[in-house]
Amino acid sequence: MDRLWAPWRMNYIKTAKEQTECIFCEAAKTKDDASRYVVHRGAKALIIMNLYPYNNGHLMVSPYRHIPNLTDMDDDEMLDVMKLLKMSVEVIKRTLNPEGFNIGVNIGRFAGAGIEDHIHFHIVPRWRGDTNFMTTLSNTRVLPETIDQTYKRLLEAKR
Ligand SMILES: [Zn+2]
Repeated sequence: MDRLWAPWRMNYIKTAKEQTECIFCEAAKTKDDASRYVVHRGAKALIIMNLYPYNNGHLMVSPYRHIPNLTDMDDDEMLDVMKLLKMSVEVIKRTLNPEGFNIGVNIGRFAGAGIEDHIHFHIVPRWRGDTNFMTTLSNTRVLPETIDQTYKRLLEAKR
């Protein structure tokens, strides 16, 4: 799917080429949260922005450990992931005022996982009419803010 306005994309492609491991492990290790769009770090998991968002404010929660499956998560990781999903919803609500959410996980490439080796949960804010005519007719999505603008607003909304 093409997007009308994606100024961050070139940067991301450059970064992706230099990447040696998965984005969730890189995010877990970095000392510079802004460079990886890490929104929050919990005890066992983190919240990160999706750089190929389905909608503005699309976040992901992943455990720090590089594990592919729900069944690999221990009790502490499950608790922390659930806490961070809740925090993601709260921060998005305060920031972007959505009318609904899709929250879910794709396990395995054939289920649609982009990165199948490291489990991650998607939080996608939804608005009435967001599957609008632009998407339907021209396979193009219009995002109202840059990733950087949204990142800044999400950080400010954390409590
Ligand atoms: Zn990983």
